Amino acid sequence: MEQYTGRSVLNKIAAGKVFFYSRKAQEVRREEGRDPAAELARFCQAKEAAAGQLEELAGKAAQEVGESGAQIFAAHVTILKDEDFHACITEMIEKEKVNAEYAVAAAGEHYARMFVRMEDEYFRAREADIRDITRRLLENLQEEEILTEEAAGGSLPVGEEPVILAAKDLSPSDTLRMDPARLAGIVTEQGSVASHTAILARTMGIPAILGVPVRADWNGRMAVLDGEEGLVILDPEVDLLEGYRRRQREESEERARLEKLKGAGDVTLDGKEIQLMANIGSARDIEEVIEQDGAGVGLFRSEYLYLGREESPSEEEQYLEYKSVLEKMQGKRVVIRTLDAGADKQAAYLGMAREENPALGCRGIRLCLERRELFRTQLRALLRASVWGNLEVMYPMIISVAEVQKIQEILKEAREELTKEGIPWKDFPQGVMIETPAAVMISRELAAEVDFFSIGTNDLTQYTLAVDRQNGNLGAYYDPRHPAILQMIRMVVENGHAQGCRVGICGDLGSDPELTKVFVKMGVDELSVPPASILPLREVIRNSRAGAENS
Ligand code: PEP
Ligand code: MG
Repeated sequence: MEQYTGRSVLNKIAAGKVFFYSRKAQEVRREEGRDPAAELARFCQAKEAAAGQLEELAGKAAQEVGESGAQIFAAHVTILKDEDFHACITEMIEKEKVNAEYAVAAAGEHYARMFVRMEDEYFRAREADIRDITRRLLENLQEEEILTEEAAGGSLPVGEEPVILAAKDLSPSDTLRMDPARLAGIVTEQGSVASHTAILARTMGIPAILGVPVRADWNGRMAVLDGEEGLVILDPEVDLLEGYRRRQREESEERARLEKLKGAGDVTLDGKEIQLMANIGSARDIEEVIEQDGAGVGLFRSEYLYLGREESPSEEEQYLEYKSVLEKMQGKRVVIRTLDAGADKQAAYLGMAREENPALGCRGIRLCLERRELFRTQLRALLRASVWGNLEVMYPMIISVAEVQKIQEILKEAREELTKEGIPWKDFPQGVMIETPAAVMISRELAAEVDFFSIGTNDLTQYTLAVDRQNGNLGAYYDPRHPAILQMIRMVVENGHAQGCRVGICGDLGSDPELTKVFVKMGVDELSVPPASILPLREVIRNSRAGAENS
């Protein structure tokens, strides 16, 4: 028996025989003295063919994995058509008179290295996408047979139990080529949990463990993937294998039970409805919210629209993104949080001054109130989008009533501007996030100003316990279940309700199933959680009692 630990992509168990997969290495030589016109024509032809294949893959992904899968290949088309990438290749062909294969491989390597050096994990993970596109272009140039859907599906052994696919590296295209019905799990040596291969595997519900030293001699051997612990166990002992098989059966029974709760409503035994909503980072996540039957979106972290780019998103871009979320949610509530930048979420174009303690610095609403233009643009986009659905807006990092009043001034300006310009808009209910001890202590006063509260337990824990949430060494002190936090939640609910203000929790503590009954008893009205937590929490809510004072 051998055991390896890696990074798990999905909390699920898989067992099966290993199928070792390795892609044929592509050899590319530098050949000089080529006719640039002919090489450029070859490159353009290969690019066109690659774009066609990617569009086909996007269609296949949309059918098999849903919109989030299709987006991955749509993003590949965008990279393929990127002007800088194109210029890097064509300039090399023209100036150095090299063969198109060499120019493509060199440009691909240059961009892949550029991404791998980036600090942000999301951008680092894009290296794999660049390599996938480069490989595709080379396959087209070298007129290698691109595996057709059937041929590629056939690359997994047919007629056997689903296999554990082991590979040094697996591109998103490789993953989509495999027939999911024949794939029990994936183990790779390379790749990050933010990679598109990982995202695809997660969306397809296939457990994957990354960062494991995979070897060709694993082929044909029995393996277990333990997604909870991030373990790969090779040649498991009979008892261990049997134990895992039992857990697998229990997991699938639980999933089947939870599936039945779709459409069942989030009502306690004594009749109180607790809205179970979802936390999302972009319009792309909506498919999952719908799939998991969320009552709405309780926290849309709009800052992800602002990060990882060179300038802030325009009013039009934001409007279209918010509109798309509202339309997809078809009248269900969507709570968009205004820009919460600063601290760990930095964007270079904001040109923020270096701070000694950024978590205690100019973040969240403070930044927005200092950059009125930036904030007004977002508010205008929200007012315009509000026409398309059931929008609510909330503000992060509030510590005073004065801040809420300043927001109203800017909102008033935005409304007046839109009216003057003849652009349709609609008002929305407003809320504040309770994520500082100050907001807790003045929650009665704040409640008089807004329609709802959403408790951000992640920051509330950090600021109450004086523990930096980013500091992994302080994990033992970062305790969101600390009695201080629970008492604060109780206090916020009482103060909010005293003024007719709805109170929800959108921080991670809201998805702790061991506390759901406690929150329901306290009178919490809604929970906003990762989409995957919706059905498990629904089960708990349906077995809870709110008590006479809350129902
Ligand atoms: C929170 O602080 O609990 C919260 C939901 O906001 P974020 O995690 O985005 O800071
Ligand atoms: Mg927060």
